[in-house]
Amino acid sequence: MGKKYATPLLDELKKGAFPSFVTEIEKAAEKTEYARDLLGLLEQSYREKLTHWKHGGIVGVRGYGGGVIGRYSDLPDKYPGVAHFHTVRVNQPSGFYYTTAALREVMGIWDKYGSGLTNMHGSTGDMVLLGTNTESLEAIFAELSSRGWDLGGSGSAMRTPSCCLGKSRCEWACIDTMALTNEITQHFQDEMHRPAFPYKFKFKVAGCAVDCIASIARADMSIIGTWKGDIGIKQDEVANYSKTMDIQKEIIDMCPTGCMTYTGGKLSIDNSNCNRCMHCIAQMTKALSPGPERGATILLGSKAPIVTGALMSWVIVPFIKLEPPYEEFFELVGKIWEWWDEHGKNRERIGELIERMGFPTFLKGVELTPHPAMIKSPRRDPFFFWDEEDIQR
Ligand code: SF4
Ligand code: SF4
Repeated sequence: MGKKYATPLLDELKKGAFPSFVTEIEKAAEKTEYARDLLGLLEQSYREKLTHWKHGGIVGVRGYGGGVIGRYSDLPDKYPGVAHFHTVRVNQPSGFYYTTAALREVMGIWDKYGSGLTNMHGSTGDMVLLGTNTESLEAIFAELSSRGWDLGGSGSAMRTPSCCLGKSRCEWACIDTMALTNEITQHFQDEMHRPAFPYKFKFKVAGCAVDCIASIARADMSIIGTWKGDIGIKQDEVANYSKTMDIQKEIIDMCPTGCMTYTGGKLSIDNSNCNRCMHCIAQMTKALSPGPERGATILLGSKAPIVTGALMSWVIVPFIKLEPPYEEFFELVGKIWEWWDEHGKNRERIGELIERMGFPTFLKGVELTPHPAMIKSPRRDPFFFWDEEDIQR
């Protein structure tokens, strides 16, 4: 199949050293009308500086309220290949592990019914299949689900949870991120497939404060592994590191709480002042390790700046053990969702609701005890105030 449209503006985006999405669409255009007409539509949009996507009717598959994002072109006669261009979200495996056979399976289905274009992965975490028509949706769903795949969340629902690869490959993981993410996904199937919330709700699980999944900026509930007790120190390994790095400059001076010292070749940590940021452990992996009691901090509220400004998550539970069957965790999530359901306005994220109603109201609503770690910005800005009756005289 040859090129259907001249695309001088898109061609500019193929120049340079980096991979180009235009090149990838052109490859797909060798096979599908979807991708060929997508090039024409995009070129016109770039020329006119106008989008030609419009919101149309709601599309989906039987029994599910989410998982498919409807997209239509407002120029269906000119570009019939993208008259419908719906997105299918496929729930990714925890930690984004696939076998080659599994990837081939999904791509085989997608080549049969869709544009062949994918986004691996969307920012929520799903495997995103870009561009198919309404008639193909049930067939895609039937083929995926018969092979054990499922759709992810969309709309005002729990979105597909995601995590870092945790204990499967990383020695710093303080919790089993993949097991927890799978458990959240299975436990809340109804909440993911049948949107009933004021707005979206995302979980992201990181095994430690390095936060490779960027949960603190991107999840309504960020679950981040941490520890209690003292950081493990192997002084002989510290001595080895001293041969290749400036420990004072690269570790001690960069500890955010100033709780480390290095004198006479011996590294010491005042653990009561450590905020478990992971800097020293990440730099001196062989010498330092997280403390013995492992669990997680739960934070709430982050979101991108769509309706109001961007928010970062803040601490609501400083430390929780996260082990199967995760009863305490699920009970807390239930209380938070109930409070949000009762007070949230349409399209109000949980973080925005807390900002509107106040943190003390939230804490009372979900029966959490105030704690000095519940601050919006570390070591600044106390985020709640005690009532007169809370103060013991
Ligand atoms: Fe490892 Fe921590 Fe990154 Fe997870 S967030 S992969 S535990 S460094
Ligand atoms: Fe300092 Fe962070 Fe290491 Fe704690 S984890 S000792 S705060 S660098």
